[in-house]
Amino acid sequence: MPHTPSERGPHPVLVIGAGPVGLTAALALRSHGLPVTVVEADPEDRIRPGSRALFVHRESLELLGRISPGLDRTLIRNGVTWPTRRTVYRTREVFARTYPQGPQDEGRTPPFTSLRQVETERHLMAACREAGVVFRWDAPVTAVETDRDGARVVTADGTTWHAQYVIGADGARSEVRRSQGITMSGDRSEAFHVVVDIEEDPDDPLPLERVFTYEHPALGGRSVMRVPFAGGFQMDLQCKDGDRPEDWADDAAARSWVAKVVGERYADRLLWVSRYHFLHVVADTFTDSEHRVLLVGEACHLFPPFGARGMNSGIADSVAAAEAVARSLAEPAERAQFVEAFAHSRREAARFNSEAARTALAHLRPRHRVTRLRQAAGAALSTVVPSCGEWLERAPYGPRTGAPTNTRGRY
Ligand SMILES: Cc1cc2nc3c(=O)[nH]c(=O)nc-3n(C[C@H](O)[C@H](O)[C@H](O)COP(=O)(O)OP(=O)(O)OC[C@H]3O[C@@H](n4cnc5c(N)ncnc54)[C@H](O)[C@@H]3O)c2cc1C
Repeated sequence: MPHTPSERGPHPVLVIGAGPVGLTAALALRSHGLPVTVVEADPEDRIRPGSRALFVHRESLELLGRISPGLDRTLIRNGVTWPTRRTVYRTREVFARTYPQGPQDEGRTPPFTSLRQVETERHLMAACREAGVVFRWDAPVTAVETDRDGARVVTADGTTWHAQYVIGADGARSEVRRSQGITMSGDRSEAFHVVVDIEEDPDDPLPLERVFTYEHPALGGRSVMRVPFAGGFQMDLQCKDGDRPEDWADDAAARSWVAKVVGERYADRLLWVSRYHFLHVVADTFTDSEHRVLLVGEACHLFPPFGARGMNSGIADSVAAAEAVARSLAEPAERAQFVEAFAHSRREAARFNSEAARTALAHLRPRHRVTRLRQAAGAALSTVVPSCGEWLERAPYGPRTGAPTNTRGRY
């Protein structure tokens, strides 16, 4: 049936995209008392794939608890916080630490919680509904235009939406970004890693620990990480230059290498297999020339996932964007300054995260033989010089501090 073009609005603000970052933006706007409509391309009953961002950092939990009281506790209750971190170099353990765990209901915020992204999104969505966020599903945005008075958003059914501000949370292929002619700078490598979600064996579960193994002997010297989540674990294989996806990333290949690392009993427990390319790209600006569009999340930055910076930094982007919009609506004369301050500080944070992930990648995929030799020497010395083991433990996640102007924490 042909759609009849229609007009909607004016809205104070529209959020484009109902991924974790768009949902966070909607909650943050509601916490400022603003009415919010989220416009999403997919239908409401869509099925989102895989675990993806497992790791919700303490800073993100605190932000989410602030904009939606109780949401932090819900995520903590539904996730896991593993007490043990372990690093192995080939077959030798070079680092292991177990942290005492207090009862989860004490009201303390743990350093992180781990649950599948689909679960995080489910809880974000429930919080949005409770907060009165309005959703428009099945409505891909096809164009966004701005001028000094506001923005016009066109969806595929021919509707034109009028808004004072648009938060673009429409992911890596952002139409909002494209419509504004905003380019991304950085690089994409042909190299990839493979991410597999595996259901835990409830009768005989593996210990609740994150294990990173350098140069696993059963995987031809490729490094592999096991990360628990509620009900299972994710395995993350670092492939080598020249590896063929069919040898590591299709279902049969993944079953075979997973069995070599955690045992045959897991070969038939694979939930999701995905190949992930290394991208380091950051948008050249996070706003348009009229300061009406604010880009957040993967719409404006993509990093390799080391250090779990993708969704976590998107959450910080959204909280900052909502604050900039709320202040701009309250004090229109200062609005360009508020939006510019958001765009500048979050772009600096994205550049920091991008470089931190690049540092981690240089450690994980050393270009020079000397880096491998240092790692081997560090492993050999770790029994007598514990800081060498600690270095091998920390390096795969990149530096943790130093984001220059990000006042909301390190992401
Ligand atoms: C294998 C893998 C592992 C990862 N691991 C981690 C991790 O451990 N920690 C971490 O922090 N991050 C991780 N990430 C990254 C994380 O998944 C992303 O950062 C996160 O999904 C980005 O959220 P987003 O809301 O910005 O974008 P998305 O999740 O992509 O959501 C964008 C939304 O916009 C909608 N949309 C797109 N185009 C339009 C349009 N034209 N109109 C309307 N709506 C539109 C989409 O349908 C979607 O709902 C991982 C990613 C992958 C692939």
